[in-house]
Amino acid sequence: MRTQVAIIGAGPAGLLLGQLLTRHGIDNVILELRSADYVLGRVRAGVVEKGTADMLDEAGVGARMHSEGLVHDGVELAFGGQRHRISFRDLIGKAVIVYGQTEITRDLMEGRAAAGATTVYEAEDVSLHDIESDRPKVRYRHKGVEQELDCDFIAGCDGYHGISRRSIPDTVLRTYERVYPFGWLGILVDRPPVSEELIYANHERGFALCSMRSPTRSRLYIQCSLEDRVEDWSDERFYEELKRRLDDEAARRLEPGQSFEKSIAPLRSFVAEPLRHGRLFLAGDAAHIVPPTGAKGLNLAASDVFYLWQALLDFYKRGSSQGIDAYSGRALARVWKAERFSWWMTSMLHRFPESSGFDRKIQQAELDYLRSSQAAQISFAENYVGLPY
Ligand SMILES: Cc1cc2nc3c(=O)[nH]c(=O)nc-3n(C[C@H](O)[C@H](O)[C@H](O)COP(=O)(O)OP(=O)(O)OC[C@H]3O[C@@H](n4cnc5c(N)ncnc54)[C@H](O)[C@@H]3O)c2cc1C
Repeated sequence: MRTQVAIIGAGPAGLLLGQLLTRHGIDNVILELRSADYVLGRVRAGVVEKGTADMLDEAGVGARMHSEGLVHDGVELAFGGQRHRISFRDLIGKAVIVYGQTEITRDLMEGRAAAGATTVYEAEDVSLHDIESDRPKVRYRHKGVEQELDCDFIAGCDGYHGISRRSIPDTVLRTYERVYPFGWLGILVDRPPVSEELIYANHERGFALCSMRSPTRSRLYIQCSLEDRVEDWSDERFYEELKRRLDDEAARRLEPGQSFEKSIAPLRSFVAEPLRHGRLFLAGDAAHIVPPTGAKGLNLAASDVFYLWQALLDFYKRGSSQGIDAYSGRALARVWKAERFSWWMTSMLHRFPESSGFDRKIQQAELDYLRSSQAAQISFAENYVGLPY
């Protein structure tokens, strides 16, 4: 088999890149380790930046997001028993859309099927070859048969645990990492959200977040210990703990219901550089991870895809390698700013086991500054809705 761009992974990065390339007449094949149902069953991000929404429109799959997604003009920060709203609309004239990653994935998969582009699900033992030459290839096994895909370029969109990043030699790849000493315990429940907008709470018992997926479905999180197991947390215990971390009004409005998804996610900041080696490009979680506090993971995958798609268009439509050569630097400049914001929000809102009295005072001063300074709020708003591409 031969294609122009072989894409490894059918998460948001791989599917979005595939859709954009297909719409511009660039042939591509996606190889995905899991089944389509498995990919659609993963519950993950839910906040969509304007730039990501524009990319989904460009890919021709934004209609359902605009009709079913919830436009949020701001967020609320809760600390010291009170809530403080930060209005993106008033401060910078922008907003975000709350629309689940699962739905984005479904829209992209349907768009891809309608365009007749090839996705090989359950592609096992994918391996990359000759990435330093201009005739790279990908080998894999499908339904027990060994296959080889020749291509011009490989896009490694296979997430943090994928093989693409590991195909870059250690002598070339540099990684930067921070692991946080806590996790997020999250549940999905069919109950209305406690508030129209997201509530991020800093409490002495730990961080909490009241998010949502729709007017009838809540996504709720509490900071937990890395030693905790999901089985330790009955729904009753979860709601009890969440209520203690919220302000009185939010706690009153919280409607406990039976959760239908419950998981613990560790928090990590991670960046691998460079994002290009020979004919291989990394995009999305394959290259970087952010703690979910700033809602940036999915959005960074989309901005990488923007730069990569533009670079490949330059190559195929204008015969220029400039975009390809600049891809890693351009994408990383934005990645590091989102890493900074996600790290900063995480540091400001969580309880760190080792924190001293000094650390806590600094955290309070940070929150108080954000509450009282319009300049600080503008900076927050600009980063939260997403920096320009
Ligand atoms: C549990 C969890 C919760 C999250 N919650 C949030 C959140 O609340 N907010 C937020 O902003 N972000 C969140 N994220 C991050 C966000 O979901 C990711 O940033 C986003 O999915 C990145 O998209 P991606 O396409 O780069 O990678 P992925 O979505 O990871 O997709 C990679 C794809 O590659 C496939 N793959 C892996 N290995 C191979 C292989 N060897 N061969 C072929 N295919 C392979 C995988 O099966 C997967 O389909 C969460 C992530 C996780 C894991």
